[in-house]
Amino acid sequence: MADDLKPPALHRLLLAWFDAERADLPWRRDRDPYRVWLSEIMLQQTQVPTVIPYFSRFLERFPTVENLARAPLDDVLKAWEGLGYYSRARNLHRTAQIIAQEHGGEFPASPGALRKLPGIGRYTAGAIASIAFGADAPVLDGNVIRVLARLYDIADDVTQPATHTALWTLAERLVPPGQAGAWNEALMDLGRRICTPRDPRCALCSVRDWCAAFQAGTQRERPVRPPRTKTPHYDVTAAVIHHPDGQVLIAQRPLDKMLGGLWEFPGGKREPGETLRACLKREILEELGVGLRVGEQIGVVRHGYTHFRITLYAFHCEIMSGEPQAIGCAAWTWATLGDLDRFAFPVTDRKIIALLRGDQLALDLET
Ligand code: SF4
Repeated sequence: MADDLKPPALHRLLLAWFDAERADLPWRRDRDPYRVWLSEIMLQQTQVPTVIPYFSRFLERFPTVENLARAPLDDVLKAWEGLGYYSRARNLHRTAQIIAQEHGGEFPASPGALRKLPGIGRYTAGAIASIAFGADAPVLDGNVIRVLARLYDIADDVTQPATHTALWTLAERLVPPGQAGAWNEALMDLGRRICTPRDPRCALCSVRDWCAAFQAGTQRERPVRPPRTKTPHYDVTAAVIHHPDGQVLIAQRPLDKMLGGLWEFPGGKREPGETLRACLKREILEELGVGLRVGEQIGVVRHGYTHFRITLYAFHCEIMSGEPQAIGCAAWTWATLGDLDRFAFPVTDRKIIALLRGDQLALDLET
């Protein structure tokens, strides 16, 4: 792989393109490590246009790492609501507390020290160290993998550990000393704007003369990945449990589970052969220790996560026996429909709230 790296010409061309065309993004307006770190965590799994408003609102709410460290986790999750992959928000909060308490409020500058912090892997450590501190550290994410696999026409499956290791070595060898931050951002920008996944814009690409895949006409076949397997689908139920005084019951998901710390209408996954109503009664007994009467169906919400899809059936319910206890959840509470805006919910439960409020606009916007 890449015996002939040709880095000086590649560096000159790509850095000149980046200098002229760099995207004006809010986190690039200064090199403050807090802003770089926040943007890199938000950009994991999330597109730039989605991140921009979240980034600005988050900084207004938590302008410094100390503000973030002092905030309750619920407030951090609320600011993150809708961005998905909530373990990022929990790790962000824990890392802010470690920075505030153990590092005097200053981020460590080396990739090795950064990687000891929760939620910071090799890519994010390389990005923070190179962009905020000028360290000669490489980055390798999906965008950079695609660019390198095309520039060097790599025919090996990039999901294989050996290929991945070789790509890191290549990324490391390509870093121009003293210019790692600009180089890494240039690779990211090229991957996001020009060397795009399905339809690379080679005619506009400043490095096409050095691109082996372009020369070979294989750019659409790179990077090589195994064929996709079918995404599993699950039926899931949710109970909107009404109190006689008009409030509804919400439960907080266990912190160590997917969507941990977020609030939801309790329920769970239907077992094979189980009816939706039987599923809901079983789930609520297991989670809250109460017997349920399941009433009318409120609606159906469909949602796709990274590795599976769900169809969520929500029902009006009332408690027939027992007092709720936090058995399979972190906490539970009664809340009025108006109060629900104070809590952080996954997108599926926000759609149930919109159904309860008859809010078609919110449903359309979130679909
Ligand atoms: Fe990507 Fe095409 Fe540029 Fe090669 S020439 S790096 S495939 S955009």
